[in-house]
Amino acid sequence: RPTTSVFSSRFSPSAYQRLLSSLAILEQREGKLNHGSLSAVTAATKIGGSIHGFVAGSNIKPVAEEAAKVEGVEKIIAVDNAAYDKGLAENYAPLLVENIKKGGYTHIIAGHTAFGKSLLPRVAALLDSQQISDITAIESENTFVRPIYAGNAIATVESSDAIKVITIRGTAFAAAEATGGSAAVEDGVDPKIEPTSEWISENLATSDRPDLATAGKVVSGGRGLKSKEEFDRVMLPLADSLGAAVGASRAAVDSGYADNSLQVGQTGKVVAPQLYMAVGISGAIQHLAGMKDSKVIAAINKDADAPIFQVADVGLVGDLFDKVPELTEKLKSA
Ligand code: FAD
Repeated sequence: RPTTSVFSSRFSPSAYQRLLSSLAILEQREGKLNHGSLSAVTAATKIGGSIHGFVAGSNIKPVAEEAAKVEGVEKIIAVDNAAYDKGLAENYAPLLVENIKKGGYTHIIAGHTAFGKSLLPRVAALLDSQQISDITAIESENTFVRPIYAGNAIATVESSDAIKVITIRGTAFAAAEATGGSAAVEDGVDPKIEPTSEWISENLATSDRPDLATAGKVVSGGRGLKSKEEFDRVMLPLADSLGAAVGASRAAVDSGYADNSLQVGQTGKVVAPQLYMAVGISGAIQHLAGMKDSKVIAAINKDADAPIFQVADVGLVGDLFDKVPELTEKLKSA
């Protein structure tokens, strides 16, 4: 794989090492800490130096106290204000910038989630820093690795900005331990800006199945399923027999077979479960970008030349409408 060096100014005397300090942006929803966002703490640990966590929203105290137990965090900065509940970037970015300036952090780290992707480029612009997105590894305090061209090349980028503003790929950094820490909780600065955007409503897809982004097993269906009815009839029992989350290719989502929130790939979710089963999915590079780091990849496709078999550990050539129900029955009776 080619390696690209974008810009450079490397300096890492040991005295500087001591001055490193990271602010990990922790996500919360409805007063509950999102444990997926604890990957930001793990990334901060790899950078070295002190680590503070940041939370904001209404009635933030219980979230701050939960975050204070996260291993490796020295201090939680908490801002109690309902204006930050939904993480609207227009409101949240000035808040974060004030707290970054006060804390004098060298690294600002958030997950490469809808929240992080929306917020951090705005924060970077306000700080006149260059945003470094979706990193998968940290080589030093100023050198980071990130996939580009839908994961077909890996770029190693070096930043000379005083404040590095970084989003991390959750599947590349395990979440920090939620217990074992005893951080202090401190009130952050609240600039109380006049909100320029307002949260109106949200329409969330709910499911009793495991969360796609964090599930240990994922079964995904593609255009080969032919209709929403067949997708549900074939894929859902398979998922339940394995205790797996359901995913889908973009073609399946665009054809209305599956909800948009289930899309895996370059423009969908990036997953890296223990088992990823691709059913009736050809294996386009944009789909592979979202699942090729899975530990075991199994594929069922009637076309023996389908590109998915090039990345699959286990492959079954056959008609999915015969093979999947048969497999589901065997799994149920196993
Ligand atoms: P197809 O390519 O049509 O493949 C269907 C497969 O099903 C075939 O291999 C066929 O042999 C098999 N099949 C058919 N019938 C049966 C049967 N009865 N039994 C067994 N096998 C059968 N795609 C994504 O998935 N995620 C993304 O995030 C994404 N982002 C994109 C971003 C951009 C900018 C672009 C340009 C494209 C993106 N795509 C994405 C689309 C991607 O290029 C492919 O078009 C898409 O992944 C194809 O989906 P598919 O494999 O389900 O469909």
